[in-house]
Amino acid sequence: MGLLEKMKEGNQRYVSRISNSLNRNLEQSFEVACKKKPFVAVVACFDSPIAPEVIFDCDSRDILVVQAAGNLINNVNLVRLEYAVQNFNISLIVVMGHQQCRLVQAALNGEKVLGYQPSQLKGLETAIEATQKKSVDAVCKMHTRLTKEDIFGFSEVFREKINNGSLQIVAGFFCLDTGRMEWLD
Ligand SMILES: [Zn+2]
Repeated sequence: MGLLEKMKEGNQRYVSRISNSLNRNLEQSFEVACKKKPFVAVVACFDSPIAPEVIFDCDSRDILVVQAAGNLINNVNLVRLEYAVQNFNISLIVVMGHQQCRLVQAALNGEKVLGYQPSQLKGLETAIEATQKKSVDAVCKMHTRLTKEDIFGFSEVFREKINNGSLQIVAGFFCLDTGRMEWLD
């Protein structure tokens, strides 16, 4: 089974309230943490209300989470991702937007939120223009796609691995109403 399929199945277990995950079991969590290396990196928004490990029903060490406000990924985030891909054998990067993102809403309104000034959310402008300010969720989905492209464009390491089939980058949108990931590709 491919990694993306594994993540889709994990999200289905989460939606169905059926968990496989070892990280809920305290006795096993230390063993899991010591032995495992992450195989998926998730770029998640700073104010995403539910942790990726829960959404995908994975063990805590399966996923390396890179948090970025409004998925505005910066060079520090990108270098961390590149390091993770090279050192942890990560073969899937999921860029995850989410419903009702307060940072995207703030960018749409030109307001300060969660300590972020409007000027710090300028990276969302391309998505706002592309969607003609349609809705906060539409802007978030567009921006999540654009962030995926930014990651691809950042690193020769990523491009080389994608071209030889050892890395995949996908974009998804987490729906709070249903618990489901909507895959944007
Ligand atoms: Zn958010």
